[in-house]
Amino acid sequence: MTLNQYIRDVQDFPKPGIVFKDITPLLANPKAVRECMALLINGLRERKIDKVVGVESRGFFFATLLAYELGAGFVPVRKPKKLPFETISASYELEYGMDTLEIHTDAIKKGDRILIHDDVLATGGTAKAVCELVEKLGGEIVQCNFLMELSFLKGREKIGPYEVYAPLVY
Ligand code: AMP
Repeated sequence: MTLNQYIRDVQDFPKPGIVFKDITPLLANPKAVRECMALLINGLRERKIDKVVGVESRGFFFATLLAYELGAGFVPVRKPKKLPFETISASYELEYGMDTLEIHTDAIKKGDRILIHDDVLATGGTAKAVCELVEKLGGEIVQCNFLMELSFLKGREKIGPYEVYAPLVY
């Protein structure tokens, strides 16, 4: 099975010039999900992950599955004003303007071993902001984990020095 066949390219979404990597066909196929999980979890079982941090919203799907498989907790990172309890936030630059992400202040304890997961690594701005949130709470980032990487956008360079892993590269 090639997983690529379950990732649909949608031209000009959400705006002209963007090729959106739509994972809904993959999520609808249990065999493809199983195969993805095997790829994503590669080597992580031995790395004593305490929490998997998932990024709203498409990062939530595999982050929760990874947390379950690794016997770890799941922690959501969300857009502003979505989380009900006390939060800290980090802002990052978009092509036009800024965006902000939030995490609950009690979601991570100092020294927790953290896996960050999102569906797509593009410019790396989102992941870098998530790393900042985890660092502020004293978490130890073990790996930034993505289903796919748009390598031409060089997001990896922005997230360095952290380990970056993405089984599918475009
Ligand atoms: P970036 O901050 O540029 O690395 O963008 C990563 C975030 O935007 C992730 O949460 C992705 O879900 C989303 N994203 C960016 N580019 C795409 C794309 N071409 N297709 C699907 N999602 C994308």
